[in-house]
Amino acid sequence: MGPLNQGLLARLGIRPRIVLMFALVFGLMGSLGLLLMQHNLLPAFDAIEKRFAQDSAKRVVSGFDEQLSSLSVLNHDWAFWDELYSHMQQPSPAFEHSNIGTAAMQSSNLNAILFVDRHQKVAGFGARAQSNGEMPRQNDVLAPLLRRWARAPQQTLVTACGLMQVQKMVSAVCWTPIVHSDGTGTPIGLVVMARELDRSTLATIGQNAGIPFTVEPQAEAPSGAATAELSWELSAFKYLPHRSLGVVYEDQRITMHYLLYDLEEKPFSAVHMQLERSLAAQAQRIVLDVVLQLALVALVSGLALLLAVHLWLVRPIRRLQADLVGLGTTQRWDSVLAYERADEIGALTQGVNALLQVLRCQVDALTTLSSTDALTGIANRRQFDERLAYEFVRLARRPAPLSLLLLDVDHFKRYNDMYGHPMGDAALQQVGALLKKCCRQQDLPARIGGEEFGLLLPETDAPGAITMAEKCMQALAAQAIVHGGSTTHPYLTASIGIATWGSDHVGEASALLRQADEALYTAKQQGRNRICHRCYPDLPTS
Ligand code: GH3
Ligand code: MG
Ligand code: MG
Repeated sequence: MGPLNQGLLARLGIRPRIVLMFALVFGLMGSLGLLLMQHNLLPAFDAIEKRFAQDSAKRVVSGFDEQLSSLSVLNHDWAFWDELYSHMQQPSPAFEHSNIGTAAMQSSNLNAILFVDRHQKVAGFGARAQSNGEMPRQNDVLAPLLRRWARAPQQTLVTACGLMQVQKMVSAVCWTPIVHSDGTGTPIGLVVMARELDRSTLATIGQNAGIPFTVEPQAEAPSGAATAELSWELSAFKYLPHRSLGVVYEDQRITMHYLLYDLEEKPFSAVHMQLERSLAAQAQRIVLDVVLQLALVALVSGLALLLAVHLWLVRPIRRLQADLVGLGTTQRWDSVLAYERADEIGALTQGVNALLQVLRCQVDALTTLSSTDALTGIANRRQFDERLAYEFVRLARRPAPLSLLLLDVDHFKRYNDMYGHPMGDAALQQVGALLKKCCRQQDLPARIGGEEFGLLLPETDAPGAITMAEKCMQALAAQAIVHGGSTTHPYLTASIGIATWGSDHVGEASALLRQADEALYTAKQQGRNRICHRCYPDLPTS
């Protein structure tokens, strides 16, 4: 796929992409099906139709051939008839009267009978009027026969047959040399018979063939074949010498022509047959129907698939996406995405939840790290400031006393100088631990500077704060951390400044901090190792 397509696809959502894919796949399948049907089904129907047309034409032409066959049987019987042989030797008027006389011919189904002697002279002739009212003349049959005879003389005793026009009517003609009934003797002449293929004969041929046809005069030999686009070879006939069929193959019909040749091999008539191509049209309709039905099935199944994809894929993914966007906005990493699905999207959600848990742990760890003092493990300046701001917000909603203690270790520089920095660190850790121990649940002890600590005491009035300060001083004293460099006390001591705001006090957090700082300063000024409250600046040290 090219970069353009990739760009286009990338801009599309899952649903349009799937719709596009379905359209492509179904379109491809439809075109392929149509192509297959066009290339396989239609040619198959075409071949069936062609075969049917060929068979029909074959049946029609065979009908003409059978007419010649049936005449040949009669002709052969006459030629092997002893009485005829005798008549040829010794003409008998009685024989002539009873066999080819006018009355005999009227009851016969022949239109002409000729007895021709060895010298090609007519020794007997009988005729019956044709369906067009014309009476065949002896020369109508004899002349073409003699011309044919001259070209290809009859050498054997075989009966020969052909078609010709007698008084403008298509007729079957047969001739056989006259011999004894046992086939012996020199042929004494020929017996020739002509029978018109009248309307009823042609109707019978049409009925047997199952295809209508017409017999039209044909003047020129090749003209019929010239107009035909195709030429089909039929299987051989018994008497008809020609096998080729001229065919005009059109969309709606197949037209076929079979030329009838006379005894001199000249075409004189053509049999026209026509077949409506209903099978091919039917096949086209079937193909169209199938294609339409397939398109409908494709549409319905495409819509069903789309709905399934929407319900099972697109909708849950969008929900997940919305939840993730919400998470990014609220940054509530403690959330858990709820999806009770056993499929891949459920697994994906579980994966997101697992990631959220990791994120939550890391955020917690970072929060702890960023709000805890690394040395003492209690809250650092940042947490202390946040908590102080928070307590002021709380006070605004629900007034209560609030006290702040600032504790600064006395002469700590000297302690460091005397015992070294690591010992100083250890001492600070001890101070931090004891402050934590002295505090209640709601209090916040914090290291807010090098050796300076702050204690935030919510809902604590001045006496409560002082008690707490004293508790801390006592706890520090109880640690008895020797401080040889201190000019105040042999052990490590601290000074505490306290500021308390009553429920009715209004002001900023920085003001309380400043007041506590001032109190601490006063405590230092007054000799260290003491508690100084803004309200009770002269409280005695413990
Ligand atoms: P004062 O009684 O007036 O408070 O005197 P001080 O020496 O305690 O005060 P100053 O401000 O002069 O010195 C504070 C000292 O605290 C200086 C510094 O070396 C020490 N200090 C600050 N932070 C740390 C720390 O994290 N560890 C150690 N070991 N010492 C620290
Ligand atoms: Mg200090
Ligand atoms: Mg100090």
